[in-house]
Parts: sequence; C-alpha cells; structure tokens
Amino acid sequence: MNFGCGACSREDAEAAWQHFRHDVDTEAPIVDDPHFIVRIVRCRACSQPFIRIFTEFIDWSGGDDPQYTTIMPVTEAEAAAFTDGSLSVFQAGKIGAGRRHLLSDWPSGQARRISWGEGTFLVSEGGLCPSAVYLSRRLALGRASAAYEARVLRVSKTFLVVKTLARHTVQKPSR
Ligand SMILES: [Zn+2]
Repeated sequence: MNFGCGACSREDAEAAWQHFRHDVDTEAPIVDDPHFIVRIVRCRACSQPFIRIFTEFIDWSGGDDPQYTTIMPVTEAEAAAFTDGSLSVFQAGKIGAGRRHLLSDWPSGQARRISWGEGTFLVSEGGLCPSAVYLSRRLALGRASAAYEARVLRVSKTFLVVKTLARHTVQKPSR
C-alpha cells in the first residue's frame, strides 16, 4: 500500500519531519493528556491523513523529559474510526505492520533523532514510570532518603531505556 505524495513521504526523514511541522492541517485531538496526545493530521499537498502520536515520559531527573512522536499514514476509514473512538489509538501500532512511519526520538539530554521506521510499534501513554510514581508518594510523606531517591532514579532510567528499546525492537519483526 502506498500513501501520500512526494512531500509527505520523502525519503529524507528530516525533510519529511519539517513538512509535518509546517505543512499539515491538524484536527482536534483524539487524546489530549499532558503526556499523551494523539490527533489526525493531513498533508496540505495531498490531503493524506496521518495519525500523530506524541508520548512524553517523566524520568524524575529534571525538566528535560524524553519525548517521542510517531506519524503513520492511515486510510480515510481508519481516520474516521480513530476520531469517533470505534478504533482505539492503541491499535495504531498493529495497523502499522505494513506501513512506513516517521519517528522522532528525543531522549533526555540528547539530540532529537528523526528516522523512518517500519512494521508494528508500541503505543505508550507516557507519564511517570511506576517507580517514580512510588517515589513521589514517599517524598510527599517525607519518607524518602537521598539514597532511596538516587536508587529510584536509576530504576526509572532503566525503565525508560527498556520502553525506548521496545519501541524500536517491535518495529523490526524480521530481526
Ligand atoms: Zn502529501
């Protein structure tokens, strides 16, 4: 299945990313949480709809939280089904099995990386990792020592590395 036009499916991932930043029309969000935003965007050149999934994780190491965006072409019927909720946004990763999708990975403290991915992918809600949620409760109760906080930070970082790996590993089922 081929989607889009020369502008929205160009080989140069960075140029494609710039196209999606400046030359698409965005529809109202389907999901609009602070750390998980999903919406349909349309190429202004060819009207091809895409689902854009933004995920941010809170890693408890300061303001520079890891952010991930996936942009995948969808059919008109799928766009309508995502929008009216008859198709869950969490199904997007399976629908993507035979489609190329644009990825923006922006890990904490590193440069943003733009690339094309293929195959199924993981859709995550983002937010706090479970150990960081627990830490925030302990801190609120005044029951978290500096050593404990440091340990949770390490666990939290590992959790994010695993999440990021999962996002990339499932894209390449041939491996
Ligand atoms: Zn296009």
